[in-house]
Amino acid sequence: MADPRAVYGIIGYPVVHSLSPLMHNTAFRGLGVDAVYELFPLKENELDAFFQKLHDPASPIFGLNVTVPYKEKVLGYLDNISPLAQKIMAVNTIVINKQRKLIGYNTDAPGFLSHLAELQFNTRGKNIAVLGAGGSARAILTVLCMIPERPASIKVYNRSAGRARELLEDIQTRVDASIVELVRSVDDLEIEKADLLINTTSVGMRAQDVPLVSAELLHPGLLVYDLIYSPAQTSLLRMAQEKGARTANGLGMLYYQGVLAFQHWANVQLDDQIKRKMREALERGSHGDAG
Ligand code: NDP
Repeated sequence: MADPRAVYGIIGYPVVHSLSPLMHNTAFRGLGVDAVYELFPLKENELDAFFQKLHDPASPIFGLNVTVPYKEKVLGYLDNISPLAQKIMAVNTIVINKQRKLIGYNTDAPGFLSHLAELQFNTRGKNIAVLGAGGSARAILTVLCMIPERPASIKVYNRSAGRARELLEDIQTRVDASIVELVRSVDDLEIEKADLLINTTSVGMRAQDVPLVSAELLHPGLLVYDLIYSPAQTSLLRMAQEKGARTANGLGMLYYQGVLAFQHWANVQLDDQIKRKMREALERGSHGDAG
């Protein structure tokens, strides 16, 4: 009997809007690999049983992505965690190897850096303002404190000041976060002096969302990076464009983290043609045309 088809997928709750199946199924098709990427919407009380079954030699699942709200929670289920994921203390990619051991990686952080590199933005000596202190901020702040191209300053504003404080205290135990400063209000982010403004909050996902920063603070010397990719243009990005700032949405980060995740699962480097197809699939999906 033929081996059952290999299964990959994303766990989280909810996952219904994920664009990852488009990207990864495009890659499987392009490579002629008989595998499928599925959505696994899991409630918290279903995690134990799900992870238990992954160790079964008969399980067809060989790789997973992890999204909100489980990127930290899954650490407890893994047999091994990559050095970067140990620094960030969050995992968005899991490889299940032939021995059914679970190895966790963080590809969000290098995905973000790869997109910044594509945008030709070098963080060395730059002043960075960050909105938010949730899961994605954890990855981004940690990696910005680790890279040789060390920013001059990173100011962080979060609606819940206590959450931001806890996050920074935690990051500080593993990396030199002396360049990070928490601020009490958006005005204290000093966006007028900043080179890069990163929105890591979910504010902007809904059409009626009002940006956390006011238009007067934005300027042509700024790159405004919004992690949100749906909608493709948030109200923050629209406002930034009107003020002459460069803008980027999070689709590039999603693409690069996906390429890295796939490469971990397949243990191969994807060629440019497959990568281009993956990106095109994402772009079609983000415009609501799943094709
Ligand atoms: P979390 O739920 O961990 O964090 C949400 C953040 O948004 C918190 O800082 C929260 O502040 C803030 N927030 C939510 N609502 C409001 C509001 N009304 N006013 C002010 N602040 C608010 O989510 P993630 O960090 O995982 O994800 C955030 C966004 O980033 C999502 O839109 C997600 O899709 C996107 N993302 C994109 C990725 C990509 O590859 N492009 C990868 C990962 C995430 P508080 O602490 O006060 O609640």
